Amino acid sequence: MKECLMSAATPSLSILIPVYRSEASLKPLVSRLMAVLDSLHTEFEIMLVNDGSPDRSWDLIQELSRSNAHLRGINLMRNFGQHNALLCGIREARHEVIVTLDADLQNPPEEIPRLLEKLAEGHDVVYGTPHQPQHGIFRDLSSWVLRLIARSVMRVGLAPHISAFRAFRTQLRDAFAAFQGPFVMIDVLLTWGTTRFASVPVRHDARSIGKSSYSLRKLFVHGFNVLTGFSTLPLQLASWIGFFFTLFGLGVLVYVIGRYLILGYSFPGFPFLASIIAIFSGAQLFALGIIGEYLARMHFRLMERPPYVMRQNKD
Ligand code: UDP
Ligand code: MG
Repeated sequence: MKECLMSAATPSLSILIPVYRSEASLKPLVSRLMAVLDSLHTEFEIMLVNDGSPDRSWDLIQELSRSNAHLRGINLMRNFGQHNALLCGIREARHEVIVTLDADLQNPPEEIPRLLEKLAEGHDVVYGTPHQPQHGIFRDLSSWVLRLIARSVMRVGLAPHISAFRAFRTQLRDAFAAFQGPFVMIDVLLTWGTTRFASVPVRHDARSIGKSSYSLRKLFVHGFNVLTGFSTLPLQLASWIGFFFTLFGLGVLVYVIGRYLILGYSFPGFPFLASIIAIFSGAQLFALGIIGEYLARMHFRLMERPPYVMRQNKD
């Protein structure tokens, strides 16, 4: 009886997984997912979006989907990035709620019902936040920096809880239906549609197979893209630096004139001038660089580079 009630309430699900270099974990992932989803008694699909993996991931996806009617494979033309692959899956999803998780089994599928319970309380987006993240120390540090950036960009108090394990209502995609451009961050796009965010603590397993496909450099580039792609924070920083140096310059002027009036001679010489010029031109170039960064972004935008391109879309 209890199960009947549950099934009436459980929305239909699109499980969305970006796949990159994950041939080793796909089979166990799909079988664990199937066990959980079957027990939920609802309509569902499992979407595996292959993000141009160089390994056998796509062959495996095709093989798995031959024997499993719930499985849908999408193959991207090349490696576009995790969030781009997610965007592709979100636009192709067919069910009421989308659940995203990593392909490396770090987000346990058994925790999906907990996300759904929270969602049913009336939230639009629910994150599964790890009790204890199981990454390396560098990875954790850079995640922390990324979160800091996300917080400033998202303006939702929830930024500390964002993770790749999310459940959200498919309707939200209407908020970013027109989004184009090569730099994507799903969590920011979701804030365009709702403010009803929530999170639940979930288990987070250590990566048992392979290693993270994120290098420190990739994370840094991603963070920077998010920062300049979705916020004007760096531009504000440039204005503040400009403001600070204007005050500094005024201070120097007062000092120089003061010396002349009190001591009767102005500041001697070249070293003083050279250092002042160096400081100020440094600040100017820095601010110019930031403006240039935004110009470059508009330039890329005008090229209308797509966030992803599909090679195959198989049911
Ligand atoms: N991923 C992707 N494209 C990429 C890199 C990663 O689709 O260019 C996927 C990957 O298959 C996994 C998820 O993004 O499902 C997270 O990647 P990973 O586990 O390597 O990163 P981490 O756990 O360190 O965040
Ligand atoms: Mg991972």
